[in-house]
Amino acid sequence: MRCAIIADIHANLPAFKEVLADIERQGGVDEVWFLGDLVGYGPDPHECIELLRPLKPVGVAGNHDRASIGKADTVAMTPDAAAACIWTAGRLTPEDIEYLDGLPLSVVKGEFTLVHGSPRDPVWEYLRSTSVAMENFSFFEGKYCLTGHTHLPGVFRQEEGTCSFIQLSTSIKLVLGKGRLIICPGGVGQPRDGDPRAGYAIYDSDIGVIRLYRVAYDIEATRARMMEAGLPIRLIERLSLGK
Ligand code: ZN
Repeated sequence: MRCAIIADIHANLPAFKEVLADIERQGGVDEVWFLGDLVGYGPDPHECIELLRPLKPVGVAGNHDRASIGKADTVAMTPDAAAACIWTAGRLTPEDIEYLDGLPLSVVKGEFTLVHGSPRDPVWEYLRSTSVAMENFSFFEGKYCLTGHTHLPGVFRQEEGTCSFIQLSTSIKLVLGKGRLIICPGGVGQPRDGDPRAGYAIYDSDIGVIRLYRVAYDIEATRARMMEAGLPIRLIERLSLGK
Protein backbone atom coordinates (compact mmCIF):
# COMPACT_ATOMS: atom_id res chain seq x y z
CA MET A 1 0.00 0.00 0.00
CA ARG A 2 1.13 3.53 -0.74
CA CYS A 3 0.22 6.49 1.48
CA ALA A 4 0.80 10.19 0.92
CA ILE A 5 1.84 11.90 4.16
CA ILE A 6 0.93 15.58 4.09
CA ALA A 7 1.03 18.23 6.82
CA ASP A 8 0.51 21.95 7.33
CA ILE A 9 -1.36 22.82 4.16
CA HIS A 10 -2.24 26.16 5.77
CA ALA A 11 -4.89 27.26 3.30
CA ASN A 12 -2.31 27.53 0.52
CA LEU A 13 -4.33 26.31 -2.46
CA PRO A 14 -1.66 26.55 -5.22
CA ALA A 15 0.80 24.59 -3.02
CA PHE A 16 -1.79 21.96 -2.15
CA LYS A 17 -2.85 21.53 -5.80
CA GLU A 18 0.74 21.06 -6.93
CA VAL A 19 1.33 18.46 -4.22
CA LEU A 20 -1.75 16.49 -5.31
CA ALA A 21 -0.60 16.68 -8.94
CA ASP A 22 2.86 15.50 -7.94
CA ILE A 23 1.42 12.56 -5.98
CA GLU A 24 -0.24 11.46 -9.23
CA ARG A 25 3.03 11.92 -11.14
CA GLN A 26 4.75 9.66 -8.59
CA GLY A 27 2.26 6.90 -9.36
CA GLY A 28 -0.60 7.81 -7.02
CA VAL A 29 -1.46 6.51 -3.56
CA ASP A 30 -4.08 4.32 -1.91
CA GLU A 31 -4.52 6.56 1.12
CA VAL A 32 -3.81 10.10 2.27
CA TRP A 33 -2.57 10.68 5.81
CA PHE A 34 -2.97 14.26 6.95
CA LEU A 35 -1.12 15.62 10.00
CA GLY A 36 -3.06 18.80 10.76
CA ASP A 37 -3.17 22.53 10.04
CA LEU A 38 -5.33 22.49 6.98
CA VAL A 39 -6.16 26.15 7.58
CA GLY A 40 -4.50 29.19 9.14
CA TYR A 41 -1.90 31.61 7.68
CA GLY A 42 -3.08 31.21 4.08
CA PRO A 43 -5.78 32.84 1.95
CA ASP A 44 -7.97 29.88 0.88
CA PRO A 45 -9.20 27.92 3.90
CA HIS A 46 -12.59 26.97 2.44
CA GLU A 47 -11.13 25.86 -0.91
CA CYS A 48 -8.46 23.73 0.79
CA ILE A 49 -11.06 21.99 2.97
CA GLU A 50 -13.12 21.32 -0.17
CA LEU A 51 -10.08 19.82 -1.87
CA LEU A 52 -9.02 17.59 1.03
CA ARG A 53 -12.41 16.32 2.22
CA PRO A 54 -13.27 14.16 -0.87
CA LEU A 55 -9.89 12.41 -0.54
CA LYS A 56 -11.24 10.97 2.74
CA PRO A 57 -7.88 11.28 4.47
CA VAL A 58 -6.91 9.64 7.70
CA GLY A 59 -6.40 12.97 9.41
CA VAL A 60 -5.84 14.84 12.64
CA ALA A 61 -6.42 18.43 13.72
CA GLY A 62 -3.67 21.02 14.18
CA ASN A 63 -3.53 24.04 16.47
CA HIS A 64 -4.67 26.35 13.64
CA ASP A 65 -7.60 24.09 12.79
CA ARG A 66 -8.67 24.13 16.44
CA ALA A 67 -8.09 27.86 16.96
CA SER A 68 -10.00 28.79 13.78
CA ILE A 69 -13.14 27.13 15.13
CA GLY A 70 -12.75 28.45 18.67
CA LYS A 71 -11.54 25.14 20.14
CA ALA A 72 -8.04 26.38 21.04
CA ASP A 73 -6.92 29.69 22.47
CA THR A 74 -5.13 32.06 20.07
CA VAL A 75 -3.33 33.58 23.10
CA ALA A 76 -0.72 30.83 22.73
CA MET A 77 0.03 31.94 19.15
CA THR A 78 2.16 34.70 17.68
CA PRO A 79 0.12 37.86 16.94
CA ASP A 80 0.33 37.17 13.17
CA ALA A 81 -0.87 33.59 13.56
CA ALA A 82 -3.69 34.68 15.86
CA ALA A 83 -4.76 37.40 13.41
CA ALA A 84 -4.81 34.87 10.57
CA CYS A 85 -6.94 32.48 12.67
CA ILE A 86 -9.47 35.21 13.37
CA TRP A 87 -9.53 36.08 9.64
CA THR A 88 -9.95 32.35 8.81
CA ALA A 89 -12.85 31.96 11.24
CA GLY A 90 -14.80 34.51 9.20
CA ARG A 91 -14.38 32.51 5.98
CA LEU A 92 -15.51 29.06 7.10
CA THR A 93 -18.91 27.67 6.18
CA PRO A 94 -20.88 25.60 8.73
CA GLU A 95 -19.77 22.47 6.80
CA ASP A 96 -16.12 23.59 6.99
CA ILE A 97 -16.44 24.05 10.75
CA GLU A 98 -18.07 20.66 11.12
CA TYR A 99 -15.26 19.02 9.13
CA LEU A 100 -12.49 20.66 11.18
CA ASP A 101 -14.34 19.89 14.40
CA GLY A 102 -14.55 16.24 13.40
CA LEU A 103 -10.79 15.81 13.07
CA PRO A 104 -9.38 13.86 16.05
CA LEU A 105 -6.17 14.84 17.86
CA SER A 106 -4.47 11.52 17.17
CA VAL A 107 -5.05 8.44 15.05
CA VAL A 108 -3.35 5.05 15.14
CA LYS A 109 -2.81 3.23 11.84
CA GLY A 110 -1.05 -0.07 12.53
CA GLU A 111 2.50 0.76 13.68
CA PHE A 112 1.94 4.48 13.02
CA THR A 113 0.54 7.14 15.34
CA LEU A 114 -0.50 10.34 13.58
CA VAL A 115 -0.52 13.64 15.50
CA HIS A 116 0.05 17.30 14.70
CA GLY A 117 2.42 18.59 17.40
CA SER A 118 3.75 15.72 19.48
CA PRO A 119 2.38 12.48 20.93
CA ARG A 120 2.50 14.09 24.40
CA ASP A 121 0.68 17.26 23.36
CA PRO A 122 -0.83 16.82 19.88
CA VAL A 123 -2.05 20.41 19.63
CA TRP A 124 0.78 22.61 20.82
CA GLU A 125 4.14 20.94 21.50
CA TYR A 126 6.98 21.44 18.97
CA LEU A 127 9.51 18.66 18.44
CA ARG A 128 12.63 20.69 17.76
CA SER A 129 15.26 18.96 19.88
CA THR A 130 16.41 15.43 20.59
CA SER A 131 15.80 15.94 24.34
CA VAL A 132 12.13 16.86 23.84
CA ALA A 133 11.70 14.12 21.23
CA MET A 134 13.27 11.58 23.61
CA GLU A 135 10.65 12.35 26.26
CA ASN A 136 7.90 11.87 23.70
CA PHE A 137 8.77 8.31 22.71
CA SER A 138 6.95 7.02 25.79
CA PHE A 139 3.72 8.77 24.75
CA PHE A 140 2.90 6.53 21.79
CA GLU A 141 2.71 2.82 21.15
CA GLY A 142 3.87 1.14 17.99
CA LYS A 143 7.13 1.93 16.24
CA TYR A 144 6.45 5.15 14.39
CA CYS A 145 4.92 8.53 15.05
CA LEU A 146 4.19 11.05 12.28
CA THR A 147 4.09 14.74 13.17
CA GLY A 148 3.66 18.13 11.53
CA HIS A 149 3.68 21.51 13.30
CA THR A 150 7.40 22.42 12.91
CA HIS A 151 7.16 22.42 9.09
CA LEU A 152 10.70 20.98 9.16
CA PRO A 153 11.30 17.64 7.43
CA GLY A 154 13.25 15.34 9.69
CA VAL A 155 13.37 12.16 11.71
CA PHE A 156 14.12 11.45 15.37
CA ARG A 157 15.39 7.94 16.00
CA GLN A 158 15.29 6.25 19.41
CA GLU A 159 17.86 3.51 19.79
CA GLU A 160 19.40 1.99 22.89
CA GLY A 161 18.33 4.80 25.20
CA THR A 162 19.53 7.63 22.98
CA CYS A 163 17.84 9.86 20.44
CA SER A 164 19.36 11.17 17.22
CA PHE A 165 18.03 13.50 14.55
CA ILE A 166 18.55 13.74 10.82
CA GLN A 167 17.07 16.31 8.50
CA LEU A 168 15.17 14.66 5.70
CA SER A 169 15.69 15.63 2.07
CA THR A 170 14.60 14.28 -1.28
CA SER A 171 17.88 12.39 -1.65
CA ILE A 172 17.31 10.31 1.51
CA LYS A 173 15.37 7.10 1.38
CA LEU A 174 14.12 6.46 4.92
CA VAL A 175 14.13 2.69 5.39
CA LEU A 176 11.89 1.60 8.24
CA GLY A 177 12.70 -1.30 10.49
CA LYS A 178 15.45 -0.28 12.87
CA GLY A 179 14.56 1.66 15.99
CA ARG A 180 11.48 3.69 16.83
CA LEU A 181 11.06 6.88 14.82
CA ILE A 182 9.24 10.20 14.98
CA ILE A 183 8.99 11.53 11.45
CA CYS A 184 7.96 14.92 10.08
CA PRO A 185 7.41 15.15 6.30
CA GLY A 186 7.80 18.96 6.22
CA GLY A 187 5.01 21.34 5.31
CA VAL A 188 2.89 21.76 2.19
CA GLY A 189 1.76 25.34 2.56
CA GLN A 190 4.49 27.08 4.54
CA PRO A 191 7.87 25.27 4.50
CA ARG A 192 10.39 26.52 7.07
CA ASP A 193 13.63 24.73 6.17
CA GLY A 194 14.84 27.43 3.79
CA ASP A 195 13.41 25.70 0.71
CA PRO A 196 10.18 27.46 -0.30
CA ARG A 197 8.89 24.50 -2.34
CA ALA A 198 5.97 22.52 -0.92
CA GLY A 199 7.03 19.38 0.95
CA TYR A 200 5.36 16.02 1.52
CA ALA A 201 6.21 12.32 1.75
CA ILE A 202 5.07 8.99 0.37
CA TYR A 203 5.17 5.81 2.47
CA ASP A 204 5.33 2.53 0.59
CA SER A 205 4.40 -0.25 3.03
CA ASP A 206 5.41 -3.04 0.61
CA ILE A 207 9.06 -2.03 0.79
CA GLY A 208 8.96 -0.20 4.17
CA VAL A 209 10.28 3.08 2.79
CA ILE A 210 9.33 6.72 3.29
CA ARG A 211 10.48 9.21 0.66
CA LEU A 212 10.30 12.98 0.73
CA TYR A 213 9.23 15.08 -2.25
CA ARG A 214 9.46 18.82 -2.95
CA VAL A 215 7.32 20.61 -5.48
CA ALA A 216 7.56 24.13 -6.86
CA TYR A 217 4.29 26.04 -6.88
CA ASP A 218 3.09 29.52 -7.82
CA ILE A 219 4.17 31.36 -4.66
CA GLU A 220 3.29 34.71 -6.24
CA ALA A 221 -0.33 33.60 -6.72
CA THR A 222 -0.65 32.74 -3.02
CA ARG A 223 1.08 35.97 -2.01
CA ALA A 224 -1.28 38.03 -4.20
CA ARG A 225 -4.32 36.35 -2.64
CA MET A 226 -2.92 37.06 0.84
CA MET A 227 -2.36 40.74 -0.05
CA GLU A 228 -5.94 40.98 -1.29
CA ALA A 229 -7.16 39.42 1.94
CA GLY A 230 -5.11 41.83 4.04
CA LEU A 231 -3.28 39.05 5.88
CA PRO A 232 -0.16 40.02 7.91
CA ILE A 233 2.77 41.07 5.70
CA ARG A 234 5.31 38.87 7.50
CA LEU A 235 3.24 35.79 6.64
CA ILE A 236 3.25 36.87 2.99
CA GLU A 237 7.00 37.50 2.91
CA ARG A 238 8.03 34.26 4.60
CA LEU A 239 6.52 32.09 1.83
CA SER A 240 9.21 33.20 -0.63
CA LEU A 241 11.95 32.53 1.90
CA GLY A 242 10.72 29.14 3.02
CA LYS A 243 11.21 30.24 6.62
ZN1 ZN B 1 1.45 24.61 11.00
